[in-house]
Parts: sequence; structure tokens; C-alpha cells
Amino acid sequence: MRSALAQAEAAGCLARQGPLTRLVDALVIGGGPAGLMAAEALAGAGCGVLVAEARPTLGRKLLMAGKSGLNLTRSEPGPAFAAAYTEGGAWLAPILAGFGPGEVRAWAEGLGIEVFTGSSLRVFPRGMKASPLLRAWTRRLAAAGVGFRTRWRWTGWKGEEARFETPEGACGVRAGATVLALGGASWARLGSDGAWAGILAGAGVPIAPFRPSNVGFRVAWPATMARHFGAPVKPVRLLAGGRAVLGELVVSARGIEGGGVYALAHLLREGAPLALDLAPGREEADLARRLARPRGKASLSNHLRKATGLAPVKLALLRALDPGALADPASTARALKALAVPLAGPRPIDEAISTAGGVMRAGLDAGLMLRARPGVFCAGEMLDWDAPTGGYLLTACLATGRHAGQGAARWLEGLPNGGGRDTS
Ligand SMILES: Cc1cc2nc3c(=O)[nH]c(=O)nc-3n(C[C@H](O)[C@H](O)[C@H](O)COP(=O)(O)OP(=O)(O)OC[C@H]3O[C@@H](n4cnc5c(N)ncnc54)[C@H](O)[C@@H]3O)c2cc1C
Repeated sequence: MRSALAQAEAAGCLARQGPLTRLVDALVIGGGPAGLMAAEALAGAGCGVLVAEARPTLGRKLLMAGKSGLNLTRSEPGPAFAAAYTEGGAWLAPILAGFGPGEVRAWAEGLGIEVFTGSSLRVFPRGMKASPLLRAWTRRLAAAGVGFRTRWRWTGWKGEEARFETPEGACGVRAGATVLALGGASWARLGSDGAWAGILAGAGVPIAPFRPSNVGFRVAWPATMARHFGAPVKPVRLLAGGRAVLGELVVSARGIEGGGVYALAHLLREGAPLALDLAPGREEADLARRLARPRGKASLSNHLRKATGLAPVKLALLRALDPGALADPASTARALKALAVPLAGPRPIDEAISTAGGVMRAGLDAGLMLRARPGVFCAGEMLDWDAPTGGYLLTACLATGRHAGQGAARWLEGLPNGGGRDTS
């Protein structure tokens, strides 16, 4: 079988223009989910497409997401789904209306991947892996004539030409339209190192600073907590910045992490204090009454356990973080319902599941085309939106990838890219 690139060349998508410069209809830079979806939209519109990826293989972060089951999307009605993107919700809502949870499901099924809706409405491939999906997807793209170049690192523009470092040396590509889908700024070893931000800022594109999102927070635990590292705390209600989330967290040597923490990370990273309700659904007065029962010869630990029925890790948190509250039943109950956790800041950005910040809405038109560079579109996590885990990240990457790809295809046809309206 001929390579995808050979097919693309044979199909006339890719013509050589001198030894070092190539000419394509559409160039997609970044081979993650957003870039591949942009390529799919462009190929579907009949455009010749070249995907250039810096790493030796495509979709490395997608494959990493597959290690925890690949939460593709969430079965949730449109307005509730868009609301998860907080300030970005109004921007993304019309884009998600074109490709939301239902479309993500149908797209995955179209690739032969059976999906199911798990607890808390999260949608996963039945195989809980990304590799079969990525394989089927790249096969379908290659069959549609999409060409791929890996180990091609985009270094910026020289005039109209996108410049790349490749194993064969520097080269350039001239494209009628370009989609940048370069990812955020975490897990740099998977390719998304955020180095593009300097290039775009230099081209006059407004860039919001990167911030860690869906990230753990540091806590300086006393030695007594060591035997609880790795223990899940659930159910727990997390309270920060006027918001409450019922979920779970995990105590680790470095602090706390897990879904409940990630859901509030955007508030916690701005310094909102965190409190835990370790006994959600239980009345403080009832807890105090139980704790006031005569203790007899029972140790304090046994008394707390029997009176509250709470897991050892929860009681260890109480003792570690507010030992003074154990002085009487009323203050113990109060602390169990609102235990302050002293956070020492987020974990380093490279450990974050996703990053906020990136290309700002004001720098793009409604078709996701850069105002500073007509004919260049942006998609995926490199855009300045934020969302918790739960399938929101991949759905927005796929939706914006498709939207940017469609805009680029319209641009190639000389039609408005959908960006006539100013949404900034
Ligand atoms: C551990 C982990 C688990 C996750 N689990 C989930 C989950 O279950 N559900 C979910 O919704 N999301 C999850 N995510 C987040 C999700 O994987 C990302 O949001 C998504 O992959 C971003 O897609 P993207 O295409 O925008 O960027 P990326 O997937 O990061 O792809 C960007 C691509 O651009 C390439 N690139 C960068 N710079 C250059 C350059 N200069 N030249 C050429 N190529 C370049 C990179 O190598 C990379 O391949 C998880 C993330 C992590 C780290």
C-alpha cells in the first residue's frame, strides 16, 4: 500500500515547488485530535491536506488520555454542556451546537468504535482505549487523501511560507489555508510544549498566559498522613469560591488531586480557599449528637470512627488539619462539615491534564481565523478556553477542529469563512 503522502501527491494535493518548498491546498500543523478533525473537515470538502506533526507519531496526548479510559464526551443537554466551559461557554456554544456530545458519539461509532455512557453521564469507548480509535481514524484520513509528515516541527513563517525543521533539514510549505492545532502547554514530552505562543505573539496575536487546569494542588502534610497516600476520599463535597462540587479526591504525597479538585481548579489557582465537607448529606447537629455520646474506654480514634462511620482517611484529614477541633463534639462536627485545607499552590503546569490560556477570542473571528493572519485558523486546546475533565476537553478540541477546518475550506473557495460576524 502506498503511503498517505504518496497518495496525496498522486492525487495532486501536494505539488513540489523546488527542492525545499511544497505547495498544498491546506496545511494542518499539529496531529492531535483538533488537527486531525480539521484535516477531516478539509478533506471532506475536497481540499488537499497535509498534516505536519513535530513528534514521531500522531495523537500522543490522545493515547495518553486513553490510559484512563478515554472519556470522549458527556451525555448532557447543550446548554448545561456549554456552561461547563465557564467564561468560554458563550464563545464555544455555537461551535458545540455544530458538533456536540451526540455528534462525538456518532463520529466514534462511525469509526467502528462502540461507546457507552458510564456513571455521571461520561461517554467512553467500550474498549476504554484510544489506540483503536486513532488507528481507524488515521486510516480513514489517509484513504481520503490526507498526507502526513511526522518529525516536522513548525518554527514560524517566512513571508507566506510556513517553515519546518525536519530530519531532512529545514523546509517550507506554502498553503492556501492553514489550521494551527498545536495543543496547550502541559505534558511537553507528548508534544504540546506551548512554544508556539511566542511565535504567534510575535505575529501580533493576543495570547492569554498559560495556567494549569485540571491539576493537583500541593499540601504540606504532617507525617501522620503518609499511610493514607493514594487513598480516595469519597464522597466528599468540595467548597471554594462560592461553588460546591460533590465528588472525590485522592490524597497523595504531594497534596490532593482527582476529579473534585479539578472541577474547582480554576478557582483554587486564583487563591480561593478550599474547604471539605467530609460527611456530605449528613447534618452537623446529628454528627455532634453522636459524637457527644459517652466514650467509655474507647480511644479517641475508635470513638470518632464509631460515632461518625467515616473512613479512616477522612478522620486522618480531620486530625491532621484541625486537631484543635477535637476538643468537643460541636467543634468536631463543625470541622467535619467544613474542613479548611491549606493549599500551597497548584502542581507544576507540565503535570496539568490541560491548560487554560492561549489564543484569545479577540484575536479570532467567528470562523476561528486569526485576525492578524488571514487564512490561518486555530483550534483545540491552544485556544483560550477552560473546562473540567469529564469529556469536555476532547469534545471542544474536536468541535473547534471541525469548525476551523470548515472555515479554512470556505476560505479556499473564496467564500466567507463563517467569520463575518464579530463575536469578540
Ligand atoms: C493524562 C491525560 C488524560 C486526559 N484524559 C482526557 C479524557 O479522558 N477526556 C478528555 O476530554 N480529555 C482528556 N485529556 C485532555 C486531552 O487529551 C487534550 O485536551 C487534547 O488532546 C488536546 O487536543 P489538541 O489537538 O488541541 O492538542 P494535542 O493533543 O496536545 O495535540 C497537539 C499536537 O501539536 C503538536 N505540535 C505542537 N507544537 C508543534 C510544532 N511546533 N510543530 C508541529 N507540531 C506541533 C504536538 O506534538 C501535538 O501532537 C487528558 C490529558 C492528559 C494529559
